[in-house]
Amino acid sequence: MKTSAAPTDRFWSKVLKGPGPSDCWLWTGAVADDGYGRYFLRQNGRDTSVRPHRYAFELVTGTPVRDGDVLRHICNIPICVRPDPEHLILGTQRENMLDRVWDGRHANGASWHWRGTGRAAFAARSHALRDAALEHGWDMAVLGPIMSGVDPEEPTLF
Ligand SMILES: [Zn+2]
Repeated sequence: MKTSAAPTDRFWSKVLKGPGPSDCWLWTGAVADDGYGRYFLRQNGRDTSVRPHRYAFELVTGTPVRDGDVLRHICNIPICVRPDPEHLILGTQRENMLDRVWDGRHANGASWHWRGTGRAAFAARSHALRDAALEHGWDMAVLGPIMSGVDPEEPTLF
């Protein structure tokens, strides 16, 4: 195995970590039309792209994410790459967590708005969040409304 720290260093340089113990870690690199990030790197001798949350999960936990595996965002932020059970859950472990988190989320009306959005709006929101993170850094006055799914330019339906 080659010893090259560069790809991982470059990866983390594109991640904005919230200062709090349970804050999201936001991917600030490329975001594709599906609303998820892309990290371009050279792997096994060829240029490829990976989803940053999967890449981060493998890097930090050492657990490989295979093609059929489901790595779900519990925090409901598609560009979050924090490999922590409050944010990302692999496989069946997520289902119990999802139930619990969604119950709580329904009660306080937080970021569940993301669920109801179509693919285009979902991607637009990821782009907006990425752009805001790049421009403003971790500023919840700016990031908060985007992360909670409240679009200040659209009237709220609920
Ligand atoms: Zn998160």
